[in-house]
Amino acid sequence: MKELSQIASTVRASTTLAIDAMFKQMKADGIDVIGFGAGEPDFHTPDNIKEAGYAAIRDNFTCYTPTAGILELRKAACIRLKEDCGLDYVPAQIVMASGAKHALYGALHALVDPGDEVIIPAPFWVTYFEMVRMLGAVPVIITAEESAGFKITPEQLAAAVTPKTKAIILNNPSNPTGMVYSREELRALADVCVEKDLYIVADEIYYRLVYDGQTFTSIAALGEDVKERTIIINGVSKSYAMTGWRVGYAAAPDHISKVMSNYLSHSTGAPCSIAQKAAAVALGGPQEKVEEMRKAFEQRRNHLVERMNAIPGVSCLKPEGAFYVMMNLKELLGKTIHGVTIHDADDFADAFLKYGLVATVPCTGFGAPDFVRWSYATSMENIDAGLDRLEKFLAE
Ligand code: PMP
Ligand code: GLU
Repeated sequence: MKELSQIASTVRASTTLAIDAMFKQMKADGIDVIGFGAGEPDFHTPDNIKEAGYAAIRDNFTCYTPTAGILELRKAACIRLKEDCGLDYVPAQIVMASGAKHALYGALHALVDPGDEVIIPAPFWVTYFEMVRMLGAVPVIITAEESAGFKITPEQLAAAVTPKTKAIILNNPSNPTGMVYSREELRALADVCVEKDLYIVADEIYYRLVYDGQTFTSIAALGEDVKERTIIINGVSKSYAMTGWRVGYAAAPDHISKVMSNYLSHSTGAPCSIAQKAAAVALGGPQEKVEEMRKAFEQRRNHLVERMNAIPGVSCLKPEGAFYVMMNLKELLGKTIHGVTIHDADDFADAFLKYGLVATVPCTGFGAPDFVRWSYATSMENIDAGLDRLEKFLAE
């Protein structure tokens, strides 16, 4: 038989989803494992949003919708972008997709051809790298060091640009580092993008989850010179605890949203009609629940970071947003724990799951092989139990 597609055959499965599947299977098998793997809020979707889903089914809102999404949902996204980020978009510039992941896929399809280069700051969410490759484009990695607060500098960005560079994917707040770029830092990066004529794929899905009283700045809010080259990626999964509903969106200049919409019309057609009705209530309805969840995440972060930094052998920076902590393993590298020599994060995460019964995400596939990511989208009890197990695991 002939070979399968070369591009498809070399795509690696999502580490985050694989670990989550493994964790859920272990739990189903009755194993007492604690999960800090997938970035998925442990809260339930708020009741008023669920009601909109039930109502959609009862009202037979179960048919195809326009590819870019129903108007009330696109209007609700415009309202959120205006109220939360000061951004002016009209519904024609909003493209709904089956999750932010799918919006990202549509955005990259609209921008890149095979052979184009896309800059990705590391540590990065594993999907960016694979998705760029899935398009036959080339991921170009620049490393944001822990000592630099996991943030890239404008000099690093400028140095990575070649005549083939088409875009940068900028995730702010970041998965996996939790770091948040300030307005000034964003302006300096945006200046390079304008000067070098780069598109900006701004994944801002965690924008509601920032801590310590910080205000989030969307890169598109810096001015028309930036907005005209930016595709914002956003969605309801993280802020409204709606990961399974699969609704995300892109906001972009008209000519880009049109191309994206054409593209998506041949892939999923449109997101699920029922989920769209629920998402319209999430984005357009009362927002108090988001703040409640944000506060809970902030308390968990404070507790996790404080305790983790008191454990010998590991350390972490205090993240400013999202719900992830990057645990630095450098002191453990080369050591043998429970008979396993720890060469990198993969070794550590495997051993920790097997002998410590805690699921974390090794950041090898995230361009940070000396780090393990903990998602604190889980209860305080789990956080304490997970850290107790870490102490025990490292002490034995
Ligand atoms: N962007 C980032 C940075 C993420 O962490 C995720 C997590 N799933 C997504 C996009 C995609 O979210 P979803 O497809 O669930 O909307
Ligand atoms: N984005 C989340 C994570 O990083 C969910 C899993 C995924 O879609 O990759 O864990």
